[in-house]
Amino acid sequence: MRYSALRVFAEALRGQRGWRPAWRDPDPQPEYDTLIIGGGGHGLATAHYLASRYGGKRIAVLEKGWIGGGNVGRNTTIVRSNYLLDGNEPFYEYSLKLWEGLEQDLNYNAMVSQRGILNLYHSDAQRDAYIRRGNAMKLHGADAELLDAGAVRAMYPRLNFDNARFPVQGGLLQRRAGTVRHDAVAWGYARAADSRGVDILQNTEVTGLQIEQGRIKGVETTRGPIRAARVGVAVAGSTSRVMSMAGMRLPIESHVLQAFVSEGLKPLIDGVVTFGAGHFYVSQSDKGGLVFGGDIDGYNSYAQRGNLPVVEDVVEGGMAIMPAIGRARLLRMWGGIMDMSMDGSPIIDRTPVEGLYLNAGWCYGGFKATPASGMAFAHLLATGEPHETATAYRLDRFRRGLPIDEKGAGAQPNLH
Ligand SMILES: Cc1cc2nc3c(=O)[nH]c(=O)nc-3n(C[C@H](O)[C@H](O)[C@H](O)COP(=O)(O)OP(=O)(O)OC[C@H]3O[C@@H](n4cnc5c(N)ncnc54)[C@H](O)[C@@H]3O)c2cc1C
Repeated sequence: MRYSALRVFAEALRGQRGWRPAWRDPDPQPEYDTLIIGGGGHGLATAHYLASRYGGKRIAVLEKGWIGGGNVGRNTTIVRSNYLLDGNEPFYEYSLKLWEGLEQDLNYNAMVSQRGILNLYHSDAQRDAYIRRGNAMKLHGADAELLDAGAVRAMYPRLNFDNARFPVQGGLLQRRAGTVRHDAVAWGYARAADSRGVDILQNTEVTGLQIEQGRIKGVETTRGPIRAARVGVAVAGSTSRVMSMAGMRLPIESHVLQAFVSEGLKPLIDGVVTFGAGHFYVSQSDKGGLVFGGDIDGYNSYAQRGNLPVVEDVVEGGMAIMPAIGRARLLRMWGGIMDMSMDGSPIIDRTPVEGLYLNAGWCYGGFKATPASGMAFAHLLATGEPHETATAYRLDRFRRGLPIDEKGAGAQPNLH
C-alpha cells in the first residue's frame, strides 16, 4: 500500500477502514538465504537495501523484542556528518545524503528535519580544531561554516553569553545536519523491507549460532532453529553477547547512555546545539520538549537504564550553557546500551567464521549512520566485499594498529 495525500483523503471519506498493518507478522520459515540478527535501525536498513538494491531474496530479520525497542527508538535523533578523519567523513556524508532522500525511498514520513547542528567553541585551541574539521568536511563535499560569537548570539540568544565560566567564542555549523524521528525510521525501514518480502520476526531471540567446520549453518532461536548460509549480526549493545556464541571476543564494551526530555515548551531553540566545554547537547522536538543528553554512564553494563550521577552531570552541563533550562521540568529519561569500540569507530566486516558478518561498534553515534550502515552491510552480505565508503571499518584494524580514533582518546572505549 503506497502512502500519499490522496490516500489520506480517500481514507477520511471511507471511515479509515482501508489501512493495513505496516508489516506482516509471519511465522519463521525453516530456512532462509540470509538472516539478519537485530531488528534495530541497522538490521532493518540492511534488509531493505539487500532486498531493494542487491536483489536479495528469502531474507528474515530476527528481533528478540519489538521493532524500535532498542537504541533506534531511544536515541536523541541527531543526524550529521561533521567528522574529521578520512575513514569516517565520506561514510557519514554518504549517510547524510541517504537521509536526504530517505522519505521518498521508503514512502514514509520519518520527519527528516535539516535544522542544523552547531558545535560551540570556547577557546582559541578549540576554534582551530573546528576550523580544521570544517575544512576536512568541505574537502569531502560536506557543508561547514565557522561562526563567531555575534553570529551564534543572533541564532541562539538564550545561550549563556554574559556570565559563563566558559564564554562562547563561536561555533562550527553544519546546516544540512538535523534530526529525524527515530522510531519512524525503524517503522519506515520495516515496512519497506516487508513490502519486498522480508520476514520480520519479532519476539524471536537468537540463543545460539550453528557453526560447522568454520562455516555458519544457521541459528537457534526461542522459536526453533532456522537454517541459513549467510548471517549478519547487527545487535548494537548486545554485540559481545551474540558474538560470544561464535566463540569470539571483540574489541567492544557495552555501556549505558541516557537521554532526557523536558515538558513541552514554546519554540526556544531551532536546531541542535552542543556545548564544547562540557558534554551536553540539546535540541527541541516538534512537540516542544527539550531533548538532551551528555556522557555515557562510564561503566560496563547491559542494563537499559542509567544512574543518578550522570543525570546530575548532564543537567549541570545544561545549566552552564543554557540557564533557562533550569525553569523547565524534566519529563522523562531513559537509557540504551552502547556498543563502544576501542577507537570509537564502527566495524562492518566479515568474521573468521565463513558466512558470518558483523555490524557493530556504533558507540553513541550510530543513528546518523543507519542508512549508510544498512547499505554498506547489505553490500558486504551480497558481494562479500566492503562498500566503498566503509573500507576502513575492518575488524583487523586493531591488530594492524590502524585505529580510526576521531577523538584522539586512545584505546579506552568509555572515553570515545
Ligand atoms: C540515549 C541515546 C542517545 C543517542 N543519541 C544518538 C544521536 O543523537 N545520534 C546518533 O547518531 N546516535 C545516537 N545514539 C546511538 C544510536 O542510537 C545507536 O548507535 C544505534 O541505534 C545502534 O544501532 P541499531 O539501531 O541497529 O540498534 P538497536 O535499535 O539497539 O538494535 C539492535 C537490536 O538487536 C536486538 N537483539 C539483541 N540481541 C538479540 C538476540 N540475541 N536476538 C535477536 N535480537 C537481538 C535488540 O533487541 C535490538 O532491537 C544514541 C543512543 C542512545 C541510547
